[in-house]
Amino acid sequence: MVFDNLINSVNRKFFMFLSTNNKIKNYVMESDFCNKVAQRWIAGVNLPEADTVTKGLNLENKLVSLDHLGEMVTENWAAKDSAYEGIGIISHIYNNNLEANLSVKPTQLGMDIGPDICYDNMKMVLDTAKHCDNFVRMDMEGSAYTQKTIDVFKKLRKDYDNVGIVMQSYLYRTGDDIDDLLKIGSNFRLCKGAYREPKNIAFPKKKDVDRNYMELSEKLLLSGQKQAFATHDKVMIDHIKQFAKDKNVSRDNIEFQMLYGIRRNLQQELVDDGWNLRIYVPYGNDWYPYTMRRFAESYHNLLFVLKDVF
Ligand SMILES: Cc1cc2nc3c(=O)[nH]c(=O)nc-3n(C[C@H](O)[C@H](O)[C@H](O)COP(=O)(O)OP(=O)(O)OC[C@H]3O[C@@H](n4cnc5c(N)ncnc54)[C@H](O)[C@@H]3O)c2cc1C
Repeated sequence: MVFDNLINSVNRKFFMFLSTNNKIKNYVMESDFCNKVAQRWIAGVNLPEADTVTKGLNLENKLVSLDHLGEMVTENWAAKDSAYEGIGIISHIYNNNLEANLSVKPTQLGMDIGPDICYDNMKMVLDTAKHCDNFVRMDMEGSAYTQKTIDVFKKLRKDYDNVGIVMQSYLYRTGDDIDDLLKIGSNFRLCKGAYREPKNIAFPKKKDVDRNYMELSEKLLLSGQKQAFATHDKVMIDHIKQFAKDKNVSRDNIEFQMLYGIRRNLQQELVDDGWNLRIYVPYGNDWYPYTMRRFAESYHNLLFVLKDVF
C-alpha cells in the first residue's frame, strides 16, 4: 500500500509535467508507438470512428458522452470551430438515434480568450442540443478555470436546463460550490479531479480526496436531483450504492460514469446489475494531454497499456 502510494505519487508528478510540456508533446505525437498507446483510451480520430464505438457501447446498454478532444484554444476562429464540431456531434446523435450526449471543455470553447466568448459558443451548442432534446456537460479543468466555469454555467442555467457541470472532490471549495449551485438546480458530475493543484487549494493526500468524494456524493444523493458519479473506484461506487439504498434514493437519479477503456469489467458489472452507466468517449487528433492525464492518474494505466501493446 505504501509502495503503491509512493509509485503513484512519483508517477503523477512525472506525467502531469509531461501533460503540459509542448516540446515533448510534439515528439510524442509523431511517434507510431505512442499513437498506438493512445488508442486504448481514444475512440478514433473522427466522428465516424467515434460513432462505431458509441453504437457498440449502446448495444451493451451503456450510455455515452462524446468528447471531441481539444483544449486551451487561444484563437476566436478555433473556439468557434469547436462549437461547430459540438453542434455536428449533437446533430449526428439525433440523426442516428444514439444514446449519447456531449461533454465540452470550457477552454476548448474560448475560455482563455474570455468568459463571454465561451458563453456565446456554449449558447450555440446548447440551442442545438435543446432542439434535439439533448444535454451538454461542461467539463471542469484546472483551478484557474473553476470560478470562471461556474460563472458561465450559472449564466447559462438562467436560460437552459440541458446544461451540467463537473465538481472535483480534491478542491477544498467544492462542498460550498455544490451548496451554492444546488440552489439553482444543477446536474453535477462528481469526480476526484485530474489536474496538478497546489496544497493551499486542494487536498494533497488521496485518502482525503476519497473521504471528501464520499461526503460530497452523499450531499448529491440527498439533493433529490439527477446526479452523475464519475469514478473507477469500487470503494466509492459501493458507498454510493449502499447510501442510496439506506436513504431510498431512486436509481433513476443516479448515473455512474467511467472513461472509455478503463475498468471494463467493473463497467459491465454495473450494467448487469441494472445501474445507469455512461461511458466518456473521447475522439480526435489532440489526444496528448488527455492521455498524459490518464497515465498520471495511476501507474496501473501505464502497465495495462504496455501489456496491451506488447
Ligand atoms: C466520466 C469521467 C469524466 C471525468 N471528467 C473530469 C473532469 O471534467 N475534470 C476532471 O478534473 N477530471 C475528470 N475526470 C477524471 C477524474 O477526476 C479522475 O482523475 C479519474 O477518474 C481517476 O479517479 P478515480 O475516481 O477513478 O479513482 P482513482 O483513485 O484514480 O482510482 C480508483 C481505483 O481504480 C482502479 N483503477 C484505476 N485505473 C485503472 C485501470 N486502468 N485498470 C484497472 N484498475 C484501475 C485502481 O484500483 C484505483 O485504485 C473524469 C473521470 C470520468 C470517469
